[in-house]
Amino acid sequence: MAAKTGNYYYYTGAIHMHTTESDGTKSFEEMVRIGCEAGLDFMMVTDHMTMIHRDQGKEGIYDKTLVVVGYEHNDLDDHHHYLLFESPHVYPETMTAKEYVAAGAADGALGIMAHPDEIRDRLEEYQPYPWDDWSVVGFTGLELWNQMSEWMEKLTRFNKLAMSLSPRKSMVGPTDRILQKWDAMNLQRRVVGIAGVDAHAFPVKIGPLTIEIFPYKVHFRCLRSYIILDEPMSSDFETARRQLYDAIRKCRLFCANIRWGEADAFEFTANNGSLEATRGDATHGNVTRGNATCGDEIELTENTSIRARVPQRATLKLIKNGQECFRIESDTLEYTVSEPGVYRIEAWKGKRGWIFSNHIRVI
Ligand SMILES: [Zn+2]
Ligand SMILES: [Zn+2]
Repeated sequence: MAAKTGNYYYYTGAIHMHTTESDGTKSFEEMVRIGCEAGLDFMMVTDHMTMIHRDQGKEGIYDKTLVVVGYEHNDLDDHHHYLLFESPHVYPETMTAKEYVAAGAADGALGIMAHPDEIRDRLEEYQPYPWDDWSVVGFTGLELWNQMSEWMEKLTRFNKLAMSLSPRKSMVGPTDRILQKWDAMNLQRRVVGIAGVDAHAFPVKIGPLTIEIFPYKVHFRCLRSYIILDEPMSSDFETARRQLYDAIRKCRLFCANIRWGEADAFEFTANNGSLEATRGDATHGNVTRGNATCGDEIELTENTSIRARVPQRATLKLIKNGQECFRIESDTLEYTVSEPGVYRIEAWKGKRGWIFSNHIRVI
């Protein structure tokens, strides 16, 4: 649910989900109802190659949940899946990845590579759909963590039952490969990292039983993307949608597996001078002198420090330019910044990833 944390307003949501208009198992209306009941502040619907729900005027605020509709573009050989929002229409499936990523950028759409690091080599009935062409230009972000992909990747004939009975516990976190790629990209420009649920609620056969893995209800209680706003989200649909898309573009976002705890009291800030002195400083776009959070830039001074707080003790890892630079077991991390760079934080509960922030840029 929405929360005010420090100077910021947090909204927790689910990105990447399918309805019966593509390969999901619930209708739009049923899925939205489940999302509202799960306490989602926003839902981003992405059926394969169709925006019928948007065309039918179904975007809106349902109860307190903002629901927007984009789509998942898959090319003919299924080697690239791309989440597109705000595109004027569904692009032709004959386009190459390079072409539809460029078309999305030219049309001002928000584009996110879906499960770019997918590797499935344990069960031949489940094929991987990784991202192959890294020379594409114009994407907004990467799905760092995909609930369905990670679950499928770990699946073997022997653990199928255990993993089906507690799917949320089996999540570990984004792979090192994708995190390294993402960090390297962010040294060049802002590239947002999101968590996707990829909700379908597929039935999976386990011996004589057919079990619905990740019913939508469970999906919506697992990987979340939290957006960070300076002002409360509007109750006007058009304004709220703009706030959501702007926050994603600005990397004002962090990801969490809420199986390990709600993350709405998580804080990740960089400050010049004491926190008290800078509280209330106005931010100007993404550049701030006093107080910065995920996605923001802050000027390096002799007093620049980074601070992170989590609601429960965890292993906190501070990553600078793709390398871990500080680690502590605590609910608080404080770090004096002496060099410019892109900084982000990871919180782990033992071997399980809990919270992954976007970068703060110290310039
Ligand atoms: Zn996909
Ligand atoms: Zn999908």
